[in-house]
Amino acid sequence: MAKITFIGLGNMGGPMASNLVKAGHDVTVFDLSKAAVEALVGEGAKTADTAEAAAQGAECVITMLPAGKHVEAVYLGDDGLLAKLPAGTLVIDSSTIAPETARGVAEVASAKNLDFIDAPVSGGVGGAKAGTLTFICGGEESTFNRAKPILEAMGKNIFHAGPHGSGQVAKICNNMLLAILMAGTSEALALGVRNGLDPAVLSEIMKQSSGGNWALNVYNPWPGVMEGVPASRDYQGGFLVNLMTKDLGLAFDNAVKNQASIPMGALARNLFQLHAGQGNGELDFSSIQRLYKPE
Ligand code: NAD
Repeated sequence: MAKITFIGLGNMGGPMASNLVKAGHDVTVFDLSKAAVEALVGEGAKTADTAEAAAQGAECVITMLPAGKHVEAVYLGDDGLLAKLPAGTLVIDSSTIAPETARGVAEVASAKNLDFIDAPVSGGVGGAKAGTLTFICGGEESTFNRAKPILEAMGKNIFHAGPHGSGQVAKICNNMLLAILMAGTSEALALGVRNGLDPAVLSEIMKQSSGGNWALNVYNPWPGVMEGVPASRDYQGGFLVNLMTKDLGLAFDNAVKNQASIPMGALARNLFQLHAGQGNGELDFSSIQRLYKPE
């Protein structure tokens, strides 16, 4: 079992760290939120006053932070962790950030002889709790192989997408598709309900038909259709609109840099941005349903 430091105990990082503790790893945690730290300490993790102190003696450091600026703040600069960790430490960033930010961190890590991979995840808070996340990794094959047994305590499917940054590219593509699917599912449900259909019956029909997709199967956006999803608790918890908007921004920026066309992704970005601008940024992203169903 490994000595692991886990930084960033939010909606995703909290349950991920918890699964590492349950798997028997020696886990030390750090977060700016005291409540988040206390919850993990209650489950058997250790903690320290700073990220640097928490990472003392770690064989592996994992971060699960909101965005690129948080990842750069934790790892880079004179006070960043990469300057403090001993050579050979395995460093895994599971946050969803721009591929070029991940490559920048990888470059500094490699200059310090640290083994870094970007390893963003898919599967939502449900997947984080159940330990069934999909990890999408970018980096050296040898680092991927080193990280795999640790990631297996938190996930079911562990992919190596390619060199540094590739995990982030694949993750951005996936989330752009997810946003398009969630907006499209919401739109179809609203049209059916406008015609007098029961949203649960319509959902079941579309699930078994050619419109079936992940949103319908496990994350239905219409309130009351599915138990245990954010739509059935006023869109609290889950994957925030602000984070989806960030990911769609990453896809958009990436498309501009690579001169790629993403008409559907650009439309989804505008829909989620509009929704966030109406004060819904802290709700789960399935609340995009409200754009189509005035309550
Ligand atoms: P969150 O906002 O719930 O959690 C982020 C945590 O990081 C917070 O607890 C915050 O206090 C902590 N933090 C911020 N800066 C810090 C610092 N400098 N040092 C220590 N802790 C710090 O976010 P989340 O939903 O857990 O998402 C984390 C990442 O995972 C994001 O990049 C997101 O895009 C991605 N993601 C989220 C989901 C989801 O369903 N929520 C799914 C897949 C991927």
